[in-house]
Amino acid sequence: MTVPFFDATRQYSAIQKDITQAINRVLLLGKYVLGGEGISFENEFRTYIGTKYAIGVNSGTDAIKIALRSLSIGQNDEVITVTNTAVPTVSAIREVGAIPVFVDIDEFFTLDPKKIETSITDKTKAILIVHLYGQPANILAIKKIAKKHKIALIEDCAQATGASFEGKKVGTFGDMSCFSFYPTKNLGAYGDGGMILTNSKRLAERARSLRMYGMKKTYYAEEEGFNSRLDEIQATILRIKLQHLDTWNKKRKNIADFYNKNITNALIETPRVRNNSEHIFHLYVIRTKKRTALKKYLQENSIGCGVHYEYPIHQQPPYKKFAPKKYGLKESERVSTEILSLPIFPELTQDELIQVVKTLNNFKA
Ligand SMILES: *Cc1c(COP(=O)(O)O)cnc(C)c1O
Repeated sequence: MTVPFFDATRQYSAIQKDITQAINRVLLLGKYVLGGEGISFENEFRTYIGTKYAIGVNSGTDAIKIALRSLSIGQNDEVITVTNTAVPTVSAIREVGAIPVFVDIDEFFTLDPKKIETSITDKTKAILIVHLYGQPANILAIKKIAKKHKIALIEDCAQATGASFEGKKVGTFGDMSCFSFYPTKNLGAYGDGGMILTNSKRLAERARSLRMYGMKKTYYAEEEGFNSRLDEIQATILRIKLQHLDTWNKKRKNIADFYNKNITNALIETPRVRNNSEHIFHLYVIRTKKRTALKKYLQENSIGCGVHYEYPIHQQPPYKKFAPKKYGLKESERVSTEILSLPIFPELTQDELIQVVKTLNNFKA
């Protein structure tokens, strides 16, 4: 039996009728960018997460870029973030000309609050945290540090739509938060898409203008902006999918519980979940000292797997110059050699899960 790492077509098959109807309705309405579907989705999404304002944009990367610009962060300003993340977290920082300052992680794969303060300088303008794999970062401790130093807090929620900490959804803690609807994410469009959330009217207005060439009035740019809009077809698709999200996240949680309970191989460490938090398991990431061998073994046994991420950002060519000189990123570097992501998506079958567990438990070093 082959178990895919991810299969988007299973979910599509289940909601195909609703999706094709909705797309057809949008096509017949004749407005394809910045129309009613986008506004409805913004309102439904901000209500779901729990903020006052929402601005749909073209991608998660653009959401971060526009959030940074809305907070007036640019040329040579420093932004504290992590090195164990997807490239776009950092490429967005560079797109506005700011400098990524990498800080190490805790045992939950997210930014370690204890290590932040030694990296704060006069130039630090923001902390950009990543709720990696669907697990909330230690957000309240980090928020306290941001407040104390009067710097902005931005949440990269690209992997964590619906995750929560102490009963509040991630995306409600920062000055601005950024979501991605890339097709593989737990709330995925059928193309690119992203969202910025905030409780600040001023920041929302600026972001709304920046996504549309810096315009507030038609054909009149007040500042240099971008073209970054969530189109009506993706918005209507996301409106339908949002209604299923809690069910889908629950299924991911059940799969994670199944893996936690049934993976008994002593060579494998199952993921740790932070207290008082709801992990939505965009990815289920195990740790093993035998990563290379285990990855090869799973591939040979037709079980899909992946590494998120094999190369810390500061080890990749364009970002090597931002590697910190005074301190290390030991934990980030260590986990990058030990992590392995197993198949986790709501449509996996019980037989497939049993197959994954059986194969893993038979692995010998
Ligand atoms: C996917 C992702 C992004 C970027 O989102 P896109 O919509 O692909 O631009 C940013 N940060 C993280 C952590 C991601 O996983």
